[in-house]
Amino acid sequence: MVRYVYAFTEGDRDMADLLGGKGANLAEMTRLGLPVPPGFTVTTEACRTFLTTGSEPVGLAREISDRLAGLEEAAGRCLGQPDDPLLLSVRSGARFSMPGMMETILNIGLDDESVQGLAKSSGNERFAWDSYRRLVQMFGSTVMGVGSNLFEEAMADLKQDRGVADDLGLDAADLAELVETYKELIHQETGESFPQSPAEQLQRAVLAVFQSWNAERARLYRRREHIPDDLGTAVNVQTMVFGNLGPDSGSGVAFTRDPATGRTGVYGDYLANAQGEDVVAGIRNTVPLDELGRLNPEAFDRLRDHMVTLEAHYRDLCDIEFTIERGRLWMLQTRVGKRTAEAAFTIAAELTDEGLITADEGLARVGGDGLARLMFPRFDTSAVGDPLAHGIPASPGAAVGAAVFDSAEAVRRATVGEKVVLVREETTPDDLPGMVAAQAVLTSRGGKTSHAAVVARGMGKVCVCGAEEIMVDPQRRRFTAGGTTVEEGTVISVDGSEGAVYPGAAPLIDSAVMKYFEASEHTDGLVDAVARAMEHADRVRRLGVRANADTPEDAARARRFGAEGIGLCRTEHMFLGDRRQLVEAMILARTNAERERALTALLPLQRQDFTGILEAMDGLPVTVRLLDPPLHEFLPDRTELAVRLAAAEAHGSPPSEHDADLLDAVNRMHEENPMLGLRGVRLGLVAPGLVAMQVRAIAEAVVERRRAGGDPRAEIMVPLIDTVEELRLVRQEVEQVLADVSTESGVTVDCPIGTMIELPRAALTAGRIAEEAQFFSFGTNDLTQTTWGFSRDDVEAAFFSAYLDKGIFKVSPFETIDREGVGRLVEIAVAEGRAARPGLKIGVCGEHGGDPESVHFFHAAGLDYVSCSPFRVPVARLEAGRAAL
Ligand code: PEP
Ligand code: MG
Repeated sequence: MVRYVYAFTEGDRDMADLLGGKGANLAEMTRLGLPVPPGFTVTTEACRTFLTTGSEPVGLAREISDRLAGLEEAAGRCLGQPDDPLLLSVRSGARFSMPGMMETILNIGLDDESVQGLAKSSGNERFAWDSYRRLVQMFGSTVMGVGSNLFEEAMADLKQDRGVADDLGLDAADLAELVETYKELIHQETGESFPQSPAEQLQRAVLAVFQSWNAERARLYRRREHIPDDLGTAVNVQTMVFGNLGPDSGSGVAFTRDPATGRTGVYGDYLANAQGEDVVAGIRNTVPLDELGRLNPEAFDRLRDHMVTLEAHYRDLCDIEFTIERGRLWMLQTRVGKRTAEAAFTIAAELTDEGLITADEGLARVGGDGLARLMFPRFDTSAVGDPLAHGIPASPGAAVGAAVFDSAEAVRRATVGEKVVLVREETTPDDLPGMVAAQAVLTSRGGKTSHAAVVARGMGKVCVCGAEEIMVDPQRRRFTAGGTTVEEGTVISVDGSEGAVYPGAAPLIDSAVMKYFEASEHTDGLVDAVARAMEHADRVRRLGVRANADTPEDAARARRFGAEGIGLCRTEHMFLGDRRQLVEAMILARTNAERERALTALLPLQRQDFTGILEAMDGLPVTVRLLDPPLHEFLPDRTELAVRLAAAEAHGSPPSEHDADLLDAVNRMHEENPMLGLRGVRLGLVAPGLVAMQVRAIAEAVVERRRAGGDPRAEIMVPLIDTVEELRLVRQEVEQVLADVSTESGVTVDCPIGTMIELPRAALTAGRIAEEAQFFSFGTNDLTQTTWGFSRDDVEAAFFSAYLDKGIFKVSPFETIDREGVGRLVEIAVAEGRAARPGLKIGVCGEHGGDPESVHFFHAAGLDYVSCSPFRVPVARLEAGRAAL
């Protein structure tokens, strides 16, 4: 028999798949003996069954009523008992946290009768009616589908009528009246009455939470966070405790360390006389948690003790939600807390020092994406004026964009490429699309745990919240701060690390982490923490990390960033600029002599390029790829040329002979699908002298470096091989030139000759190709393009967003390796290549070489190294280390 319900006393933290994150951790806290209001969890499996069958799972109602009986017995009172009702909260809790995305219903068990009982038992009539009011509102909108704005409007009308600004100004009679208004509203909108049966309330609330898994905003959040759609949510049913019973009650959120910086101390927000929802919604401004030490020292000390217990138990930063009911502390939730990249590195280093975790565990807890974020620049605050406003630094980084005042406008502008900052009083889950589209989020209300802060941090998006000096006026689409008015579309700068907002576009400066990589400067604790993670990653990784670089400057930078060589030196960039003329001459040559002349002129320039790069990478391998792109890329645009010639003719001037020749060549070389045309090795085989010139330049650079006392390690790589025959022919030519240069110079030049594997046919015949190749390097850009049949230059704009929306893939296959298809080809080529040539050296030099998830794949596939752009080198080192754990 499938079991759908577990009491908190029955589960533990390893059951998160079944009980959801929240349920598993409530069970764990219960087991640790912490004060958790009793309750039970309905499993994710029940939700999945409900969502697939569309009806309540058989036996669920029975299990819920059994568990409820247990709760009632322990409490000594019944759900909705008229004189002293047991009340319950019903909350979602998925496997992965989805803050604010699904539904919560509080105060289940109140009805027209038990509200009176609650008034008596609590001795607080206003509280009882306010609780009932909240239930009717939440139940009405969540379960019965009445628009939440209708309730808000009714509340606003009543406040206006009574002349009060705040709900605290409404008394018990007002709230009782509001309950009646709400009930009428529900009846008008649905034709149904608000249910007076507590059991029915409970049952319907549970199903509504199941249903909220498929709410639009929840789907969007999952897509963005790559959370699978078929997990479902668990539902936690828990005895209510009240933080809104007066000044000796309250609710708060606590972190065992600062989730923004990772520093130890007391971090969190507290709101007296409020329920947890009020804290998270940022409805009133909270006070810092240590204030609680003054307000209620006893509860504060107990909370501190529990924080220590939880951190030691979870061996990580925990975040905690708690409520104090008439002085008594209750723990409502804990989990290993989300954190910024800065905090992740700092905490990993500190917990390792404290002996709580091993260096391997520390490394597992940081990641390449976070590292990349820390390498971003910050604002140069010495060069900007006074901030417009200050707020809470909720999610670090620096962002510049035009202020916009609603989610739709943010999306609209971002779609046409404008950078925007979403400015709101506070955000709700409905603002999610705008937050995704914006560079930064700025709110005037709410603390570090407000919706804006939590969601932005999760996305790695810059956020300043609770900037109280800002008066947001969404109707007139502007905000004012001090004396300044900022209209929609005006550029502002948001500093999420310092919590400041500046007018205009503030200048940016490099990060300390970047300085560390650039110049080994240890400037602060964060840099030390990053350095330690990098050192450990380098110790444990098996994959080598090289860089894609084609200038001495890039090579030198890559080396400072820890590259162990160059995995791809693209030579085409060396054919641009003022050398274009020589390339044109080579292409236009009518005779061998003309071509020879052009190539001879190019030779010393190429040699000089290679000498510089080999010097920068002295002692390390430098894989030089022979020319790859179609030659017409080096010629002027066909239409432009035709227009130039036509214009000359129209003006009666004689057409330029050079232009006419160029147009002729361009027309001759025109291809409908140049990416599948005359490029790569094909070019070398049909353009006489090109390979020889490039190889000679490499070989002579090697000789020059050797003579200068260096240790040059050039490797020659042939692009876009389909068949071993192509490689065999090119290799003969290459070897001949190497032999010639060796004889001429008296210096033996012996460069390994290898090939790229970037076409499916090459991958599938890798065993044959390995007979001629001394190394392989996967060109996963072309391999992805040709395996999927997607043009790498067009698809992102053409249809990828539709594919992502439809969930055909979760991430572009040009960004993260498609393990199933392209990855399979890689595996085949590795296996067959090494079978034919044991010990064959294999790397990857497509964009995927610097993508964290792909690095793990390449490690598992048994590659020797990854090669990526210089700035990704630290990311690849870190991830290569993590892959080896
Ligand atoms: C590749 O195709 O993956 C590659 C590295 O070559 P390019 O991007 O220059 O085509
Ligand atoms: Mg390629």
